[in-house]
Parts: sequence; C-alpha cells; structure tokens
Amino acid sequence: MKIAFFDTHEFEKDFFAEKVKKYQNMQIYFLNVRLTEQTVLMASGCDAVCAFVNDQLNANVLAELKKLNVQLVALRSAGFNNVDLEAAKKNNIRVTRVPEYSPYAVAEHAVALIQTLNRKTHKAYNRVREGNFSLEGLVGFDLHKKTVGLIGTGRIGSAMAKIMLGFGCQVLAHDIQPKEELKAAGVCYVQLEDLLKASDIISLHVPLNPKTKHLLNEESLKLVKPDVMIINTSRGALIDTPALIRALKKKKIGSAGLDVYEEEEGVFFHDFSGQGISDDVLARLLTFPNVMLTSHQGFLTQEALNNIAETTLENIQNFSEGRSQNIVV
Ligand code: NAD
Repeated sequence: MKIAFFDTHEFEKDFFAEKVKKYQNMQIYFLNVRLTEQTVLMASGCDAVCAFVNDQLNANVLAELKKLNVQLVALRSAGFNNVDLEAAKKNNIRVTRVPEYSPYAVAEHAVALIQTLNRKTHKAYNRVREGNFSLEGLVGFDLHKKTVGLIGTGRIGSAMAKIMLGFGCQVLAHDIQPKEELKAAGVCYVQLEDLLKASDIISLHVPLNPKTKHLLNEESLKLVKPDVMIINTSRGALIDTPALIRALKKKKIGSAGLDVYEEEEGVFFHDFSGQGISDDVLARLLTFPNVMLTSHQGFLTQEALNNIAETTLENIQNFSEGRSQNIVV
C-alpha cells in the first residue's frame, strides 16, 4: 500500500515513521501540504490517503481521488465532519477513522483551559518573569461546588464528567444518549435549555453535524448565566463566533476557552507570527483578555499520538487484507 500522508506535522511524523516499520507492504509519502482541490494530484500513484482534521475531502476532491484509483481515506482523527460521506460512497472510497485514541488528552486539555482562564496562570507566568509580583487582577474562583454543564457525554465528555466530579463540581449533562454509568456517578442529565441556564462552566463535547452546528448562537447565548465560562474543545462551528464576540463585548459571558475555531482550516497548525492574522473575526477574538485560544492541541499528548499512529496503520492494513475496522463509510 502506498499512502499519501497529507498535512504532515513534525510532532506526528516520528510516531508514524516508527510504527510503519512493522508493515512490510506499506510505504508512507509524507507531504507538508493540506489535501485540497489544488493538491489532490499529489496522491497520484497511491492507494490510500491519510488525512487530518483540516484536509478537505469534499465531492470534488473525492472524485479526483477516485480518478487516481485511491481506494481508502484513512483519517488520523476521530471527527469526520471534513469528509463528504455521500461523495465517498458514490466514488466507492472507504473512509476509516480513529474513534478513540485518548479521551483523557482532550478532556484534560479542556480542564487546562478552565484552570488557566480561572486562575490566570498565563498572566502570572509573564508577570513574575518581569519582576512583577502583584496579585491584582488574578482573582479566580473555587471549582468546588460550581455547576459544570457538559454538552455531549461520549468518550471525551465522560472523561470530563469524572474529572469535574473529582473537583467537587455539580455536573449537569445533555446528550441524546444518556449514560447510566455517569448517572450512577452523580451526573444529572437535563434538557439543553436547563443546562445553559444553570451552568457556571459550559463545555462542548458533541460532534459537529447539521443538528449541532451553531449550537451556541445569538439565541442560546441569551440563556446563559452572566459570568459563564464557555469551553470548546470539540469543533469550532459548534459556536457562532460572531455571536460569541457580541456576547463577550456586552459582558454577557465571563470567559471563553477555545481549542477549535470555525475557520481554523489553513490557519491552525501554522506559524503566522511574522505575517499577522488576516481573519478579522479571529483577530477580534484574540483581543479579549478573557479569551484563551489554543491551536487545536487537545489531542496532543504522547499517548494519543502513539495510539493514533497505531490505529491508523492497523486500519490501513485491515483494509488491504479485506477486513473492516473503524469504518465511517
Ligand atoms: P463520541 O462520539 O464518543 O461522543 C459524542 C457524544 O455526543 C455522544 O454521546 C452522542 O450521543 C452525543 N451527541 C451527538 N449528537 C448530539 C446532539 N445533537 N445533542 C446532544 N448530544 C449529542 O465523541 P468523542 O470521542 O467524545 O469526541 C467528541 C468530539 O470531540 C469529536 O466529535 C471531535 O469533534 C472532538 N475532538 C476534538 C479533539 C481536539 O484535539 N480538540 C480531539 C478529538 C475529538
């Protein structure tokens, strides 16, 4: 199997390069570019493409892949919202993913965002390095007894629920498939509206699909508590960003910790420090002192990268031997 590995990053390359040695029949071609309509021809001669969260797998790209005889799109991510699944089916291209590599990595990053915004350690770090030992402006709050609302209690939401229960929080949850195990642990499932109204911290853990797109919007943001903290480590388009900015400007919400952004494609994972940011919405978001943005790094732990490489290559091997595993379509 020849695999065109799009949007390669140094942080993942060694994990794949090491694990692929196990498979005599696999060759990986690492490419630094994202998969788009402009770059798809780089998959020429390959049987599979390996794609990440910001690669474009729309109908045109999939039709081109079909012409190149590519049979498999092996996603090295859990989410698959960037793939036109109907087009993949139509072109008889199989799509696999890594459904679970470390829910802890993402949940723990969500907690890192919460505690950074809350206890302002990013500000404290810079202050003391400049010899400023003042505590003014660094007041946080106890997590103990605060109400945390989790939207989505799948793998990551469940891990998050257990961590927040450990902090002594009251955990509310909303999910179309409530989990008995979490109820027994003390999680209280409620309607979305009730969760929005009651939570001091709201954390998003649902996948992006037509039903969840802009789940937090102008209307739903009117329901939240005035000082609410909003955390999004799932997908950017779960939040209508201009509505979030308006709510931040009106001080309708207290703070926001975002690991994802609706228009992150082509921006996140890249260094623009020498050029400036051309996306005005993103630039505005970054002006708020109570917004913490990270560049889609929730998954970025050694354990997760190791599991991603292992499962992705297993998926490819299974496909080449006619077995089905972790199939999306
Ligand atoms: P999962 O499939 O295990 O859980 C998703 C949960 O959402 C399920 O319990 C499902 O019932 C629920 N759900 C789906 N639609 C819903 C709706 N309309 N209303 C309420 N609940 C709904 O997924 P997961 O592994 O926990 O991952 C969650 C998301 O996290 C992924 O879809 C992905 O977008 C994101 N993610 C982000 C990173 C990162 O690095 N930041 C890494 C991995 C995953």
